[in-house]
Amino acid sequence: MADLLDVGFIQAVFGDGEAPEGASPVLQILSVKKINSASSASSGVVDRYRAILSDGEYFGQAMLAVNLNPLIDSKEIDKFSIIKLRSYTTNAVQGRRLLILLEFDILESVYNEKIGEAVNIEHAVANGTVSRAPAGNANAAPKAEPKGRAGGAGPGPARGGARQGGGKDVGPLFPIESLSPYQNKWTIKARVSAKSEIKHWSNQRGDGKLFNVTFMDESGEIRATGFNEQCDNFYDLLEEGKVYFVSRARINIAKKQFNNVNNEYEIAFERETAIEPCDDASVPQIKYNFKRVDELADLNKDDMCDIIGVVREVHDLSSVTSKATQKPFAKRDIQIVDQSGQAVRLTLWGKQAESFAHDDSPVIAFKGVKVGDFGGRSLSMFSSATMSVNPDINEAHALRGWYDSAGRNTQFNAYTSTMAGRSDNSAPRLNELKTIGEAKDENLGMRDKTDYFTTAAVVAFIKSENFSYPACANPDGCNKKVIEDGNGTYVCDKCDKHWPEPIHRYILSMNCMDHTSSFWITAFNEVAEKLLGISANDLWKLKEGGDEQQFQSYFTKAAGRSYTFEMMAKQDSYNEQVRVRYTCRKAGIPDFVAESAYLSQQIALFNI
Ligand SMILES: [Zn+2]
Repeated sequence: MADLLDVGFIQAVFGDGEAPEGASPVLQILSVKKINSASSASSGVVDRYRAILSDGEYFGQAMLAVNLNPLIDSKEIDKFSIIKLRSYTTNAVQGRRLLILLEFDILESVYNEKIGEAVNIEHAVANGTVSRAPAGNANAAPKAEPKGRAGGAGPGPARGGARQGGGKDVGPLFPIESLSPYQNKWTIKARVSAKSEIKHWSNQRGDGKLFNVTFMDESGEIRATGFNEQCDNFYDLLEEGKVYFVSRARINIAKKQFNNVNNEYEIAFERETAIEPCDDASVPQIKYNFKRVDELADLNKDDMCDIIGVVREVHDLSSVTSKATQKPFAKRDIQIVDQSGQAVRLTLWGKQAESFAHDDSPVIAFKGVKVGDFGGRSLSMFSSATMSVNPDINEAHALRGWYDSAGRNTQFNAYTSTMAGRSDNSAPRLNELKTIGEAKDENLGMRDKTDYFTTAAVVAFIKSENFSYPACANPDGCNKKVIEDGNGTYVCDKCDKHWPEPIHRYILSMNCMDHTSSFWITAFNEVAEKLLGISANDLWKLKEGGDEQQFQSYFTKAAGRSYTFEMMAKQDSYNEQVRVRYTCRKAGIPDFVAESAYLSQQIALFNI
């Protein structure tokens, strides 16, 4: 069970006094104790708690930041709880080193036993069993020996010795799951489950290229990146589906914004990196967690999923221009069906789209495709996704049998935009928000069709001139503009009626901004009334009444507030000039709690 904990962390921290950068180890709390027992609520002294933390090998002293106190008071953490440290610092208190816990996740609130036979790190340091190594991560805490996984399902019999092409100083075999920046001598035996195309970039600092591969073994997956020279050295050598020994590469904290492999760490190939092919096929094949096609409706936009199905339609290759980069790329849609009777469109991109040449209804398994909500539900293949044609797995054989006997003649349901997708009253999906800068950069509204988007912005200024127009007073809600007919009444062309006076309706022009840009948007009656807090007709009367100050106060009061605006962008010709007209369809009060939670999630992806 000691494998549960990140052995090596306590030694790294207390041995050299330097907390390894960016680590988030799993540790067990052996005890928690209040230290300033003299305190009480009335004295105004805040309780401090001390904890003893174990990594299964050593234990050491830690203090909890005061804002974590409620976790102890509520017993969410207690003796033997298992935590994953998110943020911490170290300190020397009265000559003793102390780990200060700032933030952590609780993995097991209630755990009944002590894991491992951890010994006191201070004793180990005192009697020289553990030395105070010089600062620096590389040699901070080499693990004495990798631990096999629970149940003895280790990486194979070759561990630590009889490897092919051995003899080099590359270290023992490790399961992928146990790799961390704390060891520098390791070798993994892993299968390449995905390989990207070579990506080129060019910026002020120069040109470069890179590629990624995903390695997998029984214990898990990890992604590796090779830049420039390493791209030349390893790109051709590494083939999807084959098994390799990999050693002497750097382990970094995963950059989650570029990497959706489920691992805290990632590998960077270096000049010293050694990669050798391996004949041993005992390393597992790609693991799938398939969703049925009809289950896609339960997933959210941008979720990743694995799917297997029969390819029923293959559409022609086409080319689209990326809204974001303005570059053209190849695209091909295929339709996938399964026994659920549901069909879904899946889009292939780039080389995969160009080289797709299967017109015989193959069964294809996809790993790591992205869910979109175009037409209700659709799928899109990411660069990290993999596609396996007619794989030798049970699910594929079952699909083959079903399709050839019955499926071929089945009528399938297609996803349509009314089936999924959010209802009109739900809050905007925060991951769908566009900044004003993005809306402009992507030229939204510059094409023939209308573009819709949601943005979070602050109202900077509202024009008080021409804020409304005189509208038809017909109670059935005609809303047409009326014209004074010269007899002191107002005529509506549409209803063919004369009204003693019109009803004023808003056509509000306002400037809104966010951190990227600003734009002018138009808001009509319903939205404008919500923003100003008064009907256009009442506001008009106020202006007519001559109380300019009170009239203006409505406009100044409404500025400076934040909203989520549901927008429409559309081309508009005015005096022979084409421009984009932005209209606000709905303005919502932001859900600050939800937005903060979303933002902290996004920030966490940077691993700062
Ligand atoms: Zn009318």
